[in-house]
Amino acid sequence: MTGAVTTGAAPAGEKRDRPLVRIRGLRKSFGGHLVLDGIDLDVREGEVTVLLGPSGSGKSTLLRCVNHLERPDAGFVELGGEIVGYRPGRGRLHELRARSLTRQRAQVGMVFQQFNLFPHLTVLENITEAPVAVRGVPRKEAAARARTLLERVGLAGRENSYPRQMSGGQQQRVAIARALAMEPRLLLFDEPTSALDPELVGDVLAVMRDLAVSGMTMIVVTHEIGFAREVADTVAFLDGGRIIESGTPADVLADPRHPRARAFLSAVL
Ligand code: ADP
Ligand code: MG
Repeated sequence: MTGAVTTGAAPAGEKRDRPLVRIRGLRKSFGGHLVLDGIDLDVREGEVTVLLGPSGSGKSTLLRCVNHLERPDAGFVELGGEIVGYRPGRGRLHELRARSLTRQRAQVGMVFQQFNLFPHLTVLENITEAPVAVRGVPRKEAAARARTLLERVGLAGRENSYPRQMSGGQQQRVAIARALAMEPRLLLFDEPTSALDPELVGDVLAVMRDLAVSGMTMIVVTHEIGFAREVADTVAFLDGGRIIESGTPADVLADPRHPRARAFLSAVL
């Protein structure tokens, strides 16, 4: 890729072992309120990391830093060896210009609590919009791929529906198909089932589970402990802008050591 930025010439072996996402010393404040207080986190290719933590602990801000929707005050996020949002030059980092940032963000798909589909576009148009506009994929090719993705999320044949004609769970699955249409290296989910009626949650979680099994790298903010237990490779607890505990679901969910992690778990279980 032209303009690719690396943070150091790692030997081939080391590069292969390097996590896809490397977060180091990430800090972010809003008007004097420290929201991320030195986050370190690695996510390896093909792994699923679930972020748990109380409201206001910084989970959304952390996800937003991963694709530079928020600018960190200190520290960095690295994706595939490139620092997100910046390029090095003359001994310091320079923020990427819009076009380069768009190209970098195209590697990261994001799925929000409130689906954020375009209401005036059909399902097919919602899914093909970005590949056509951002990546220059021919419209026909984008449409064919969108149909395959709709099958994958259990919505074959719904391409001409409008978002308002679908349930929340169906809309969220369209949002997942839309994110996949950009062929991202990483998917971020911010409480993807929190706005859904309980009976619609399972279908969305099933699609996410399939993605995980297929090898997609994902960071998922959720309160669905069952999903974390079954699907996550790593569970990390955020509290007050810090990761207070992390490890395998078997370790962290069965027997959290930190009192605040324990309190959070007993509140959501
Ligand atoms: P979580 O997703 O864990 O609930 P957030 O990352 O959304 O937490 O928010 C963490 C804290 O940062 C909250 O106190 C929130 O009010 C504050 N915050 C988040 N975004 C902004 C912003 N753009 N401006 C000011 N404060 C913000
Ligand atoms: Mg949030």
